[in-house]
Amino acid sequence: MAPPRLVLDAHTLRMIAIAFLLLSALSIHRLWFAGGTEIRDVIAVDGETMGTTFQIRVAGDGLDERLERDVRQVVAARLGEIDRWMSTWNPESEVSRFNAHDSSSPFAVSYETASVVAFAVELCKWTTGAYDISVGPLVALWGFGNGARVGQPPTEAEIEEAMSHMGARLIRVGRGAPGGQGFLRKNDPTLQIDLSSIAKGFGADHVADGLFELGRTDFMVEIGGEVYAAGERPGGGPWRLAIEKPLDEGRAIQSIVELSNQGMASSGDYRIFYLDGDRRLSHTIDPRTGHPVENGPAATTVIATTAAEADAWATALMVLGEGEGLRLAEEWDVAGLVLTRGEAGAIEAKANALFPATVAPGMSNSNAP
Ligand code: ADP
Ligand code: MG
Repeated sequence: MAPPRLVLDAHTLRMIAIAFLLLSALSIHRLWFAGGTEIRDVIAVDGETMGTTFQIRVAGDGLDERLERDVRQVVAARLGEIDRWMSTWNPESEVSRFNAHDSSSPFAVSYETASVVAFAVELCKWTTGAYDISVGPLVALWGFGNGARVGQPPTEAEIEEAMSHMGARLIRVGRGAPGGQGFLRKNDPTLQIDLSSIAKGFGADHVADGLFELGRTDFMVEIGGEVYAAGERPGGGPWRLAIEKPLDEGRAIQSIVELSNQGMASSGDYRIFYLDGDRRLSHTIDPRTGHPVENGPAATTVIATTAAEADAWATALMVLGEGEGLRLAEEWDVAGLVLTRGEAGAIEAKANALFPATVAPGMSNSNAP
């Protein structure tokens, strides 16, 4: 058996992240001047965070430089908080220190970190372990994520050992009150948590909260492909977001959906995966088997009340697949879309009844007109 080979490295992945999402916002970028101050109908703030890119668009009439400064300040402050709370790259983040905390005694964290972990534990139970934030040691074993080992797959003994330190049953959470402190506790001192599957979505929600606090009602926050869209796009109407076709090479749009006061997130095996002979191994791990998802969905998209919920669910659907996954998502009240590779690599789309009709043709789903 040929050793697995990594087709796209994480760096490349980040470099090609997601300009495709911002169709309507990008096309309208008018500026004019009134009394010496630059007035515009969209404020754009772009940058890098969490090893990926972010793009923020604030719509409205008569947006000025002062507001742009305020927006930039809110964005920087809120992304800084996400880094201090949930980053796996920052050794001083709450999550990194909790992982290093080699004890079952309660560990104080922010209300926000505790809330994200509490949600993740709920979803782990709902999906009977298909979604599991304690999957980190398996991710590392398979050579994805920090400390990547690209080459030989791990042995069954290594996999079993990692799996014995995983699972929602080993995590306890006290959320505390908003603005205050919560706590996390591990029943197994070696347990590690990894919020990569939800932190970008939560980050989008957290920046959105800051923009709501500034009094803005119409904006879009996108971090690494996960989006929160509030109110209306520049020029009016809901935000229009493209769902990318899961192609190994090149970029194309699968379909376009409209969002307003909702989160949307996608996950896919098409930008980073292993090829092991004919087997295509995704960077999503099935915690129930200890192996990467094999020949699973090409991509998933979820629309939910928050981007955090959508982000976690998009990962969960990658593990669960279209049958069980779309059903469980619908019971939880989130809209799911699963794209699979059919005959000769053709992309097939399946959605649950909550998934909205698309603006552009290109897919069928059960509630499309
Ligand atoms: P992306 O990082 O491409 O946006 P996801 O949001 O699906 O993709 O998150 C994938 C990350 O989540 C992986 O890199 C890994 O750290 C973690 N992960 C992998 N498998 C699972 C799983 N079954 N449950 C929860 N998190 C997972
Ligand atoms: Mg995710």
